[in-house]
Amino acid sequence: MQHILQKYFGYNDFRPLQKEIISDILEGKDTFALMPTGGGKSLCYQLPALMMDGVTVVISPLISLMKDQVDNLKSNGIAAEYLNSTLGYSQIKQVHEKLIDNRIKILYVAPERLIMSDTFSYLKKGKVSMFAVDEAHCISEWGHDFRPEYRRLNILKKRFRNVPIVALTATASPKVEKDIVKQLSLEDCRTYRASFNRKNLFYHVKTKKDTYRQLKAYLKKHRGESGIIYCQSRSMVETLSKRLNKDGFKTLAYHAGLSDFKREYNQNSFIQDNTDIIVATVAFGMGIDKPDVRFVIHYDLPKNLESYYQETGRGGRDGLPCECVLFFSYADKYKIEYFIEQKKTKEERDAALMQLRQMINYCESNQCRRKVLLEYFGETYPESNCKKCDVCLNPKEKFEGTKYAEMILKCIKDLDQRYGACYTVDVLTGSGSKKIQKNSHHLLESYGKGEFFTKKQWLDILRELINKGILEQKGGRYPILNLNGKSEDVLNGNLRIELTVPSKTVNVNSEKNLN
Ligand code: ADP
Ligand code: ZN
Repeated sequence: MQHILQKYFGYNDFRPLQKEIISDILEGKDTFALMPTGGGKSLCYQLPALMMDGVTVVISPLISLMKDQVDNLKSNGIAAEYLNSTLGYSQIKQVHEKLIDNRIKILYVAPERLIMSDTFSYLKKGKVSMFAVDEAHCISEWGHDFRPEYRRLNILKKRFRNVPIVALTATASPKVEKDIVKQLSLEDCRTYRASFNRKNLFYHVKTKKDTYRQLKAYLKKHRGESGIIYCQSRSMVETLSKRLNKDGFKTLAYHAGLSDFKREYNQNSFIQDNTDIIVATVAFGMGIDKPDVRFVIHYDLPKNLESYYQETGRGGRDGLPCECVLFFSYADKYKIEYFIEQKKTKEERDAALMQLRQMINYCESNQCRRKVLLEYFGETYPESNCKKCDVCLNPKEKFEGTKYAEMILKCIKDLDQRYGACYTVDVLTGSGSKKIQKNSHHLLESYGKGEFFTKKQWLDILRELINKGILEQKGGRYPILNLNGKSEDVLNGNLRIELTVPSKTVNVNSEKNLN
């Protein structure tokens, strides 16, 4: 292995988990590799491909990158080819012939091409050593980039019973993981999960207020650096890019509404450093490997943490620092909710709303941003201060808050866990609302018990308890507060809670948010 690593790839050492994954593959096991972008997934199948008899078939949705990848491998002396819709008839025939003669070690295939019956029959005539399903999250509707043609890959295990499959992705939520294993029928599959912590990324959240001026001030301090600015809509991309240009910044736009030529031109300009900044929609980025991106700014709120992680993940791939700045406003939240409401089924709407809620929690949290992000991916971040996020860099004062946690949990209990945050806090602060009177909740023991804090302050405490896992929020559009085991621990006096000292300023907007 070491010899091949040096001879064909020119590296001296393996990156974390590469060796373990490759060893499993060589033993013929189905394997699942979760690695962040830039973690070195390709080597995990390219290297064993050279050590096994037959062809390794790599399934990838990134047609535009296949040629480059294959040329690269060829220039390292590796027999590689690709099959996708950009090839003509005679080129496809050549690849087919090589397959029969077993003259290819690595074959890149687009999923829609793979499931064609002639491709299958040529693969059957030769010998397939393994399938590598790259960007495997595309198979799952829970991922951020679902592609229906990936679903058809469930046929692989049926047609090639004894050929091992390795699935690779940088999308790691446990739900997506389960779905991939199920869809591909992976057997006794071992999962390798590299840490998703990107140590050189700095995370900041700023409240949207005079955002353009804030942005300009930021860019002035970072002149000459490469950066990406993500916006929600194509028209916003155009407007912002033009405005920045006028103000003396070198920017180009990127979104799916531009012609193929223009998109490619702008992208290459950015990669080759002819322009500093690319202003883009989420269409920009998949498969782009520019090492020296120094900032990733979200001018608008992303719709979930998965996307946010992937988009910021395009920064700092060379290991040097990169700043990730997110501009947050509730107006953006409402816009996204509006789009979510257009979705067809209730399941889709609920799933999207839950994801949006996690995104908002990230923005509002008093906890380390890195911790919140990593927890979303099922990873525990052990440090109490990451020193590289705005929360950790400007720590807020804490106090012994068990008494207050108890108070609000008791109120939720009194309300039989049937109400949302706003109503609960109204009861706790003794609001004179008609609804409370009508429900006779002004007669509850908890009513008015917490009048010494404002509504906003209680909502902050609630949010903190939710973020700490002391309390849960369930349901779609109007989530309800639910107690869990930890809430009971607090109520029984078995768990003490530290809380952030509530802020004094009243922000009406944030009240609406938890509703
Ligand atoms: P991913 O697909 O996980 O985003 P890639 O496979 O594109 O990552 O690898 C990211 C970068 O890391 C590439 O430039 C690759 O050449 C480099 N790389 C991969 N493995 C190693 C290694 N063992 N040693 C040094 N560099 C590596
Ligand atoms: Zn932090």
